[in-house]
Amino acid sequence: PPDAEALGRGTWTLLHSIAATYPDVPSKSQQSDLFSFVKLFSRLYPCWVCAEDFQTYLGKEVPRVQSRDEFGIWLCGAHNEVNAKLGKPQFDCSRWQERWRTGWKD
Ligand code: FAD
Repeated sequence: PPDAEALGRGTWTLLHSIAATYPDVPSKSQQSDLFSFVKLFSRLYPCWVCAEDFQTYLGKEVPRVQSRDEFGIWLCGAHNEVNAKLGKPQFDCSRWQERWRTGWKD
């Protein structure tokens, strides 16, 4: 879909930024908030074909909300699944914090 690109870029920025600011040791209520957010997001995302595939992905790969790094790596995997579908390169998920949190060293 034509809008899917700008919408996607902005949305990935939001989602990875949420991961970057999520606690290392989240409380139970923070974990359940994030889990609910991801599920609701998958139903409300205004690119319907994207949303449908994302819901299917959630059914296979349950969101991991136990810590910042677990969620960041889970989200990176979800983004890589979309990258693969669109023929874009895979992102090295061991470097997600460098891209979205601490900044590249070089
Ligand atoms: P984007 O994929 O938007 O990425 C932005 C930046 O994130 C990149 O420049 C890179 O620095 C970084 N990045 C890339 N991969 C990762 C990763 N794995 N982990 C962390 N950081 C990373 N578009 C469609 O046409 N069809 C779809 O079905 C579709 N489904 C989508 C589902 C969701 C949930 C979302 C949020 C978006 C979806 N999109 C879809 C949009 C698509 O993913 C891209 O956002 C869009 O094509 C623009 O791509 P881009 O090359 O600018 O970079």
